[in-house]
Amino acid sequence: MRVLLVDDDEEDFLLTRDLFRQIDAGRYVVEWAASYDEGLAAVSRQEHDVCLIDYRLGPANGLDLLREAIRRGVHTPLILLTGQGDHEVDVQAMKEGAADYLIKGRVDAPLLERSVRYAIERARTLAALRELAIRDELTGLYNRREMCRLLKEEVARCWRYAEPMALVMIDIDHFKAVNDTFGHQAGDEVLRWIARLLRQNLRSVDQPARYGGEELAVILPEMTDPHALEMAERLRQVVAAEPFRFVTPAGGPVEIPITISLGVAYLPDDADSDDGLIAAADAALYEAKRRGRNQAVRYRELRIGGSRPS
Ligand code: GH3
Ligand code: MG
Ligand code: MG
Repeated sequence: MRVLLVDDDEEDFLLTRDLFRQIDAGRYVVEWAASYDEGLAAVSRQEHDVCLIDYRLGPANGLDLLREAIRRGVHTPLILLTGQGDHEVDVQAMKEGAADYLIKGRVDAPLLERSVRYAIERARTLAALRELAIRDELTGLYNRREMCRLLKEEVARCWRYAEPMALVMIDIDHFKAVNDTFGHQAGDEVLRWIARLLRQNLRSVDQPARYGGEELAVILPEMTDPHALEMAERLRQVVAAEPFRFVTPAGGPVEIPITISLGVAYLPDDADSDDGLIAAADAALYEAKRRGRNQAVRYRELRIGGSRPS
């Protein structure tokens, strides 16, 4: 188990390391960061199972470090250590997301062991909950809320670094007919199948999500015209290439021809915000439907052709 101790006092580091040795010398590797900056860098790497942060770090303080680490998205359990007990700091640490608050000199090996064990277990539970909160249960893709958060983040990043990106909106064609003809379960399996095809055919940086019922979306970082359209066209072909095979509850194997329509929009060409990008990709998707489905359309074609949907 890797433990990080952020403490500007070497004496205190050695004492705490000693406590870990008393618990079980073979179980813990205790690493040391001796300053706020070094500590923040180490905590941010998220390589440790637990981090203990001293409250007094020279001119800086451990609570600031904890706050900054959490702001950066660190999920490692962070335990605050102080020289003397201060109820206000304790409460503040808890509110900021500390896993525990321990007072040096009043911590013995069993208490430390217990605190670390609880902190790690709580972090595991939180990670599982976080996963549940961002995933769509049926397809395992990101859900709409997470997709919107990721898109906002990506759009902000693109503006900051003047990088291009694209968004593809996907809608299954005549999906209601699949449900009506083969049953809702078949429809569910089609959704799962398409989610799998997306995962298999995208780059690792691309982020596929379930935007709505049978509407999916893919965030494509660093994509310029016409590469997202090419990617969308490839996805269309992969889905249309062979029918989806399904065994109905009644027993018979069936082959269901499935096609998708896709709308593509680029940043900064087609929009200047996350909402604008969704609206543009959606308009292009609408145009793909209007033209007869089973095709990918980019937003720019609507502007050039003047056939903006009403
Ligand atoms: P279009 O080609 O214009 O997109 O036609 P469509 O039939 O696909 O579109 P419509 O919006 O009329 O119907 C969408 C259907 O998707 C209706 C809804 O019951 C179904 N649907 C939405 N979510 C789910 C789901 O989770 N599972 C299943 N099986 N069906 C779903
Ligand atoms: Mg549809
Ligand atoms: Mg739809």
